Amino acid sequence: MNPDIQIIASANGAIGIDAVWENLAHGIRALDAVEAAARVVEDNVDDHSVGTGGLPNLDGIVELDASIMDGDNRAAGAVAALRGYRHPISVARAVLERLPHVLIVGDGAARFAQEIGAEAGELLTEEAEKIWSEGLTAAPGGLAGTILERAKALTTDPERAVGTVNFLARDLNGSLASAVSTSGWAWKWPGRAGDSPIPGAGNYCDSRFGSAACTGYGELALRTSTARTIVNRLAEGASPLEAGRSALLDLASLDEPTENMIMHVVVLSKDGEHAALSTQRGALYAWRDGNSKSTEVLERTYVSLEGGH
Ligand code: ASP
Repeated sequence: MNPDIQIIASANGAIGIDAVWENLAHGIRALDAVEAAARVVEDNVDDHSVGTGGLPNLDGIVELDASIMDGDNRAAGAVAALRGYRHPISVARAVLERLPHVLIVGDGAARFAQEIGAEAGELLTEEAEKIWSEGLTAAPGGLAGTILERAKALTTDPERAVGTVNFLARDLNGSLASAVSTSGWAWKWPGRAGDSPIPGAGNYCDSRFGSAACTGYGELALRTSTARTIVNRLAEGASPLEAGRSALLDLASLDEPTENMIMHVVVLSKDGEHAALSTQRGALYAWRDGNSKSTEVLERTYVSLEGGH
């Protein structure tokens, strides 16, 4: 098998890698591989951070963000706050291919999904609704607090609110593609878009240099263009590990409480060298290349932000 083919994902993407690996090995495009892999995770009801089963916003409605990038020409498609459709990654792919736009949101995104015949579905599962309603009641001030107080307390609780799936792939032709899909931070403000649907923030891919994607506190990646920063570093000659480390260290100057400094990145260079890093100890990622016998779930390199930079 050609060792140069490769996929790297957030740990919850391992099932997606397994599902598409044989096809990638047989020559499908990286762009097709990352979309197909993300669809598998979007259908996993046990994953409360992506697609069906994802945790809802403050109003109890699941709103999905997704983006996909073709590294060969940096074509990008994205949707944010999309309600009622099972596969936001495929709607994002259709934006890339069928609209002269990159990002569409909310009602406009749903209207486009309907127009292209995307599959509608009930995204809120019983289990996700239970977690959502228990969280509301347990919020500081409970239901007596103002909605703004609740939004702030709940959406920044890292124990409960996080998760996204990332896929970066390299195909037999050496082309790169990336996909990111998420239900975003649970209890988020309705209409909130995170970093996942924003090329440059949560997702960036350029076959000339490499690709990067994020999970974690999306607002940090939005403020610092994390994925694009990493690819810029690769373009300057940094290794994936050096590029990821410098983008994470850049967060330390944001003047945020340390407990909010949650960022995990995956990085793949054009030559197929990879790295996965996190500001939290023990965070995992999933990976496979042409030499691996199966998908491996491995520990990310920990980057401490303590002490400021
Ligand atoms: N980055 C995602 C967001 O902010 C959530 C996550 O990855 O935990 O919506």
